[in-house]
Amino acid sequence: MIEHNIITKTEKRSILGEIIVTLFEQCNMSCKFCNQDHNSKVGMDTIRDKLPVVKRAIENMSKTREMFSVHFMGGEVFSDLVPDSCFDDYKYLADELEVWSKENNYDVEICFTTNFVYEQTHRLQKLLDQCPQVKLLTSYDPSGRFGLGQLNLFKKNVIAFEKYIKSANVIMTKPNIDKFLKGDKKFLILSAPTGSGKSFFSKTISNLTNECTENFRELVDSYEIYKLDKHGEFLYKDNLDREKPFGAFALTITKPLQDQYKSFFDDAKVLKGKINHQCAIDETKDVEIAPCVIVEKIKKDCWGKCICPYYEDRNRLLTSQFGVLNYSMFLSLPEDLRKKEILICDEAGVRRRDRQKI
Ligand code: SF4
Ligand code: SF4
Repeated sequence: MIEHNIITKTEKRSILGEIIVTLFEQCNMSCKFCNQDHNSKVGMDTIRDKLPVVKRAIENMSKTREMFSVHFMGGEVFSDLVPDSCFDDYKYLADELEVWSKENNYDVEICFTTNFVYEQTHRLQKLLDQCPQVKLLTSYDPSGRFGLGQLNLFKKNVIAFEKYIKSANVIMTKPNIDKFLKGDKKFLILSAPTGSGKSFFSKTISNLTNECTENFRELVDSYEIYKLDKHGEFLYKDNLDREKPFGAFALTITKPLQDQYKSFFDDAKVLKGKINHQCAIDETKDVEIAPCVIVEKIKKDCWGKCICPYYEDRNRLLTSQFGVLNYSMFLSLPEDLRKKEILICDEAGVRRRDRQKI
């Protein structure tokens, strides 16, 4: 059993402080990925005691945050298993917090997280009528959380309480990601606010893709892959055609976004433009204006010695499971080297002019 009275602060956003309060662990469901003790009633009789802890958290965070979002959750706080007295306590928390935050000029949003799988909705409706400041958060698990009866109940309640729902998240478990990867849908659009963890979503999906074959890795690491035949085609085109797409590329619009991926994930392989790399032969020049631009043979020598920072980075990108590059660079890669299992178009809405080419 995990510790109760947990208050977790996440600090992804610069002005919003999120405070997550687990009231108790009892739940009417048993999601496989959930490690809570669904039979435990610990905390159910001390719900009101959370108020001073929440106030303290807001006061402490107010030095660096301007707005606050307090999330009360279980277990399942509204399940049919929960006694009526808990609803009185929820009302107490919501009302007291509302009055206190107004008195102290804190901008506080109050949310309850719910799975929406219960019959006794009149208690929730009463709470929402009495406390109009309360918003609801929920989540949807497309593969497996619900039995048929539970799914129908979930749908019915989501429709009934739609106007109170602030957000409904899709739970990205491995079965759900697999369902997407193996399904017939070609595109998945994720529209989520800053700080909601989109980069982690990208990385999680890439972790479930295949790694490159040894054959491909050897061709790239030895630079043999770039050899051309007399027609200007890749000499090893047949080998490339036989390779199945593997791994993921995340396409970004700015260098800081590339840096952000790298800072989050050590194993991300980032490739920036030639101008960002210093030539190993002439350190006064970047790769854009290096000696090999004039004398092609120099490049082959550098490749043979594996000393060029840019081309070595490019090789690491091509063989990685999670490569990060910008749109222009991706589009300038030969088509045979662009085949990926997953292409993540970061900020795709902004990058309209490349949409068609991709
Ligand atoms: S509904 Fe939520 S609390 Fe209940 S078992 Fe599933 S994940 Fe855990
Ligand atoms: S290939 Fe050689 S000469 Fe060209 S940029 Fe790289 S290190 Fe410099």
